Amino acid sequence: METAVHVHVVAFDEALDQVLQLAAGLAVPTTEILPLLDCGGRVLAQTVMADRDQPPFDRSTRDGFAVRASEAVAGDGLTVVGQVRAGERWTGGALKTGAAIEIMTGAPVPEGADAVVMVEHVERSGGAIRLGEGRSLQVGENVVPRGAEAQAGNAVLVAGTMLEGAEIALAAACGCSSLSVYRRPRVAIVATGDELVELHRTPDEQQIRNSNSYGLAALVARAGGEAVRLPIAPDRREDLERIIQEARASDLVLLSGGVSMGEYDLVEEVLLSLGAEFFFTGVKMQPGKPVVFGKLPASGDTPARFFFGLPGNPVSTQVTFHCFVEPLLRAMSGAAVQGPRFVQATLEEDVAGKAGLMRILPARLTSHRVTPTVRLVGWQGSGDLAANARANCYAVLPPERERFAAGDLITILLR
Ligand code: AMP
Ligand code: MG
Repeated sequence: METAVHVHVVAFDEALDQVLQLAAGLAVPTTEILPLLDCGGRVLAQTVMADRDQPPFDRSTRDGFAVRASEAVAGDGLTVVGQVRAGERWTGGALKTGAAIEIMTGAPVPEGADAVVMVEHVERSGGAIRLGEGRSLQVGENVVPRGAEAQAGNAVLVAGTMLEGAEIALAAACGCSSLSVYRRPRVAIVATGDELVELHRTPDEQQIRNSNSYGLAALVARAGGEAVRLPIAPDRREDLERIIQEARASDLVLLSGGVSMGEYDLVEEVLLSLGAEFFFTGVKMQPGKPVVFGKLPASGDTPARFFFGLPGNPVSTQVTFHCFVEPLLRAMSGAAVQGPRFVQATLEEDVAGKAGLMRILPARLTSHRVTPTVRLVGWQGSGDLAANARANCYAVLPPERERFAAGDLITILLR
């Protein structure tokens, strides 16, 4: 067995490609049936089909009058012969020549009518209407034909779709009161470090509260996983090994700390002793350079498990989570494989890049409608949790450039 970890530091894009490739090859997760109201944030494991045409009838999109467009345009007065409201059906037979039927938004357009003229576009006198001066009307105007949105039997949602408000409303419209969704992967969270204390203890001056486990648990839940927080692992081989063995019971293992070059950074060594394969042992990025990604082999009844060794500095921990863990975890939850959420915004100020490193710095996106802009948040480096919380995104400064100027369009990472 190898005794030293083979150092393999890769470029940011290579690391991300590697994660996405492995994500694409994952087995399909098992499923469970949940009531529709519990499906928010879960990933659909079935096809949802329209159980009837949508709309189920020719639907008026306006309050107005159902007419024959040609008659309305001809300028003759049309006699209003009745009214049809949403939830009603017109029972007076096909629309007769010279007639109009008052209609409300969402009501079925009576047979024989081919358009709806808006109430604002007509002149009324007594029981008759006339198209207003200068108004026009096309056949089909203000009418959504039956089945135009979906026809009975059409697949409207497919497996792998994340269920949020839009999808849940559509499933409800198709009569689904429960759905088959993928089970959430369990994600073990192990913080390592002799300096760490749990929240219920008062830290001595030289001690640090274990904030990473809590931050990671929140991020895991939002990315579709079920967080399993394990006890703090001290920087000793036996303790690390014992807690990593415990962590293997979960579907994915997240470790924080102990992956740098220090004498007490033992995480990789212990993983290697357990037979781990390493896809990379570092990424040319800042913060987050020491991040490690690999796989522990199957052992006894326990299948092989992917693991990430995230750097302990809290901003590094969270940035590397968003970049690498989140895409893998979403795929493990059954969602279609997708990278981190990169969009673009206009830089508000000059910023320095760093040759050879992908910088991913805490930043604040301002949501101007016309030109969304972004500025860096002042920070004291990758331990600065307060700066990370003042940020609402990260500015992504690629390694090829040394300077980014105010007004440049840059990539940002949404979180
Ligand atoms: P390490 O990656 O183990 O060298 O840790 C780097 C620094 O990150 C440490 O000096 C701690 O201050 C901080 N740190 C490590 N683990 C945690 C944690 N679980 N919660 C908060 N801060 C941490
Ligand atoms: Mg440490």
